Amino acid sequence: MMIKDNMMKKQDNETTMLGVRLQELESHSNLRRLPSMVHDGREVIVNGRRMLNLSSNDYLGLGTDRKIREDFLQTLTPDSFLPTSSSSRLLTGNFSVYEELEAELAARFGTEAALVFNSGYHANTGILPAVSNSQTLILADKLVHASIIDGIRLSAARCIRYRHNDLNQLERLLKEHTQSHQQVIIVTESIFSMDGDRADLQSLVQLKHRYGNVSLYVDEAHAFGVRGKHGLGCAEEAGCIHDIDFLVGTFGKAGASAGAYIVCSRVLREYLVNCMRTLIFTTALPPVNIAWTLSVIRRIPEMQEERKHLDRISRTLREALEAKGYSCPSVSHIVPLVVGPSADTVIRAEELQRHGFYALPVRPPTVPEGTSRIRFSLTADIREEEIEELIKHIS
Ligand SMILES: *Cc1c(COP(=O)(O)O)cnc(C)c1O
Repeated sequence: MMIKDNMMKKQDNETTMLGVRLQELESHSNLRRLPSMVHDGREVIVNGRRMLNLSSNDYLGLGTDRKIREDFLQTLTPDSFLPTSSSSRLLTGNFSVYEELEAELAARFGTEAALVFNSGYHANTGILPAVSNSQTLILADKLVHASIIDGIRLSAARCIRYRHNDLNQLERLLKEHTQSHQQVIIVTESIFSMDGDRADLQSLVQLKHRYGNVSLYVDEAHAFGVRGKHGLGCAEEAGCIHDIDFLVGTFGKAGASAGAYIVCSRVLREYLVNCMRTLIFTTALPPVNIAWTLSVIRRIPEMQEERKHLDRISRTLREALEAKGYSCPSVSHIVPLVVGPSADTVIRAEELQRHGFYALPVRPPTVPEGTSRIRFSLTADIREEEIEELIKHIS
């Protein structure tokens, strides 16, 4: 009876503590809720209101394209529709379609090898811990994605964050620390999630080449499919695919699927297969999902018109924001409208929603305190007129 009473008390305490923290979030306008919504192609219906989705990562519009899904379904039979891998790839989950996708990726990028993961989150939390040890120094851009930060935390490496895109500071850090570490890994995104700006990959490559023990890790989650002549990302655009040691991208955004990849050397692939915990200790994605990814990946190189259109409408929106006095760091299809205080940002986003545009506020801790913003995430199936209409409703 005593024990049970104590347990009840403990639970009560915990519930109260969590409740208090939630109230704190709510009072700072930072409480998050899972929004209920119905999807209808490019539009979403939330609370009975139909809106154009301006917050999707389906950058090429492949996810909303019904014809592509029809074509894919045509290829399936009950025998080829495999909804589960039932195992890690190291046991019995390695279906041949995985290797087909990896061969396709390696061929497209012109690398020796590729390795596919369950998600970008798995990739970023798995690769860095696998390849680093206590003699490793990681130099990471201040604004890298949470999954990269978690990967660094899980690793034994020492880490220093450099100011966002500040290559002078990075150079100083390299000069100061490279000799005293066995290995240094520079970690960056190519297009950054929240500002939509871009890392200078060519300069990063030049910097790294000055040292024998410095390698470069680039996350192309927002650039794969969108940048480069064949949609391979900013590394293709900058002509430095082969200078990047860890070139990572995801399929959940422009790839209209789920999963992630690294394109790399044969040795690195084999090493990851042996040492990467988020690859080894998880059930592989369903083979049908990999088959879908493969069918999408084969379309991406030819989607130059879509890339051009996305580029055009993104520029229109960025220029309009600047003309209205907002400073806009973006050079991509991710366009932030920085409002500042969270409460104001929420109100502004609701205003746009009333006009039929599903734009969402992004608040701390996703972005630094005082930089809450509406984050437009444009896709190639949005029309120029719709952007013009949106601009009219931005004050
Ligand atoms: C979305 C994203 C990820 C996570 O990828 P998932 O496949 O969604 O887990 C990783 N890195 C960056 C930069 C991202 O934007």
